[in-house]
Amino acid sequence: MKGLPDAPRPAGLLPPFTAEHEQLRASLRRFVEAELVPHADAWERERWFPDELFPRMGELGFLGLRYPLEYGGQGGDHLHEAVLAEELSRCRSAGVAAGLGAHISIATPPIWGFGTEDQRQRYVVPAITGERIAALGITEPGAGSDVASLRTRAERVEGGWVVNGEKAFITNGVRADHLVAAVRTGEQDGHGGISFLIIDTDQPGYAASKLDKLGWHASDTALIALQDVFVPQENLLGKAGDGFKLIMANFQWERLAMALGAVAAMQDVFERTLAYAMQRSAFGRPIGRFQAIRHRFAEMATTIEASRSLTYHALRRFHASEDALREVTMAKLLSQRASFEVADACLQIHGGAGYMVEVGIERAVRDARLGPIGGGTDEIMKEILGRSMGL
Ligand SMILES: Cc1cc2nc3c(=O)[nH]c(=O)nc-3n(C[C@H](O)[C@H](O)[C@H](O)COP(=O)(O)OP(=O)(O)OC[C@H]3O[C@@H](n4cnc5c(N)ncnc54)[C@H](O)[C@@H]3O)c2cc1C
Repeated sequence: MKGLPDAPRPAGLLPPFTAEHEQLRASLRRFVEAELVPHADAWERERWFPDELFPRMGELGFLGLRYPLEYGGQGGDHLHEAVLAEELSRCRSAGVAAGLGAHISIATPPIWGFGTEDQRQRYVVPAITGERIAALGITEPGAGSDVASLRTRAERVEGGWVVNGEKAFITNGVRADHLVAAVRTGEQDGHGGISFLIIDTDQPGYAASKLDKLGWHASDTALIALQDVFVPQENLLGKAGDGFKLIMANFQWERLAMALGAVAAMQDVFERTLAYAMQRSAFGRPIGRFQAIRHRFAEMATTIEASRSLTYHALRRFHASEDALREVTMAKLLSQRASFEVADACLQIHGGAGYMVEVGIERAVRDARLGPIGGGTDEIMKEILGRSMGL
């Protein structure tokens, strides 16, 4: 699928998507159904999905949808990646979607956006083929929401830096070949003095251990210790001291991708539950025919539609390079909590079956719980919105 076709937009499609995006959606959906869904249960049990998934997706062109053809990409843009975020979230394991999504949507874009041509060749090109796996390391044990308080320090030495510190909760942190890491290079505290380094994880002094967690079981979430890790000068990403700007720039797409994923995940669990409510009977009728349950579906459908509309509105603004800070923040805030609540309501409609692992609904609830925390918590989204109103 080298080079995306340039198709006109027929009536009836949901903007900003065109027929070309729907073709991509169809091929992604086939891939997800044939190559991810059948393995989701096993990968969840194993608490891991195979690294080979990256080169497989690279081969299909899915890791480089928005990058130019000359870098091995598909020549598309953020809208193509938006379709990917939606379709991956139907794979029945948010852990798989998160591992792939961290590589595609949060760890590789900063190198593309802020990197030199040499860095693009060394890191973006093999990320597009899936030969190298990427992780983004911002959070630390002592600095999450308050990113400006991060303490991992890079000291200048001849030819580069030596890094010491810790990173926490890093998706792909164990399997990654490189970590795009926020570090303190300057003497200043707070926002200033933060820079980004691309750290090769095979360097001596890089140690990552996998953390156990409530959901996202198939993904690798790591605690990373960095002890005297050497990083060459040519792996400074962007300008020294400009790291905070990079963090903020990256958050917009991460949050939008999370909102897109949450809406699609809600739709998926809703559809599965609707089918269940029509075939499961109690007191002589399908449970979906009880008013209490019918109303629950009505509420969920309204929530999903509202989340989708706001998310697509934010996506349109983002894609048009308009200021989308408020819309993206609102979409992230609304969709993540909604996704958890919809999944929980769907579990309730499944009754005892919903509590059973084999039915797959309990996983949807556990997986959705990360949304109001990851990529900036609900409280931080409200802070951003409140401040945007001058409060
Ligand atoms: C599974 C998983 C995967 C992750 N993947 C990555 C990754 O790949 N890369 C990465 O860098 N990070 C990653 N994270 C980290 C994630 O972004 C942080 O957990 C998140 O930003 C919150 O930071 P924290 O956990 O330190 O919470 P804290 O900042 O300690 O917050 C604790 C509580 O205090 C609240 N709070 C904090 N400040 C305020 C305030 N000003 N007003 C009101 N309430 C406030 C928070 O909302 C929260 O409820 C991941 C986390 C998880 C759980």
